[in-house]
Amino acid sequence: MRTALGDFFSTDPVVGVAAPEPVASIAAVQPLVVDAAGLVKAADLQAAAAARAAEEARLAEAARVAEEARRVQEAQAAREAEAQAARDAEVARRAEEAAKPAAEPARPAAPPAAAPKPAAAPKPAEPAAPAARAGSAQLVAGRVSSGFGARGGRQHQGLDIAAPIGTPIHVPLAGTVIDSGPASGFGLWVRVRHGDGTVTTYGHVNRSFVKVGDRVAAGEVIAEVGNRGRSTGPHLHIEVTTPGGQKIDPRPWLRDRGVNL
Ligand SMILES: [Zn+2]
Repeated sequence: MRTALGDFFSTDPVVGVAAPEPVASIAAVQPLVVDAAGLVKAADLQAAAAARAAEEARLAEAARVAEEARRVQEAQAAREAEAQAARDAEVARRAEEAAKPAAEPARPAAPPAAAPKPAAAPKPAEPAAPAARAGSAQLVAGRVSSGFGARGGRQHQGLDIAAPIGTPIHVPLAGTVIDSGPASGFGLWVRVRHGDGTVTTYGHVNRSFVKVGDRVAAGEVIAEVGNRGRSTGPHLHIEVTTPGGQKIDPRPWLRDRGVNL
């Protein structure tokens, strides 16, 4: 059967039915379609990347703002802590000042013998003292009232330094606290073992500011002078015991460590 269209293509029925041209052109277009899809896909990816970058920038900005706020808050907290510390120091200073006049007049009034037990112990300048006097070796501000050795037919195993109740006792050498508390005869004592094994003992103390196991630095205030135990007046009784267990005269030992009494 013949038609006008058939005439247009070809007289050959075989060739006319299966014209190769359109097939070839579809094949030629195919890669372009794939390319277009690829381009669309690439564009999508680009958009996604841009969105991601924008999101990241937004998050970074939020983090920066949060960090800034945190820094401001920290600075504020530091300022407040500083102000609080200053207030605390001022309160401590006033308390110390208030305690001083109470301590001073009490001393001459109290007779040297049979001094009353401390009812209200004055507060010493405990935390401030070591810093204020750091660098120079010291023990206690007082005067030697009894030396080491024979005393009334008995051996005095230490050195007595008379000082008002509440006078800070500085450990002359760094060490570790091995005793702090009640002790027979000494009332209340503190003992410190030093690096070479020597032990120093502080007897009749009114208050101890350290506990067993504490590491103490040279010059640190460890206790205050008292009148506890077998004591006839406010004083520090200090003993020095060698690593071998022998009690020696504290005076030369202290002198070797810069403490002159
Ligand atoms: Zn003594």
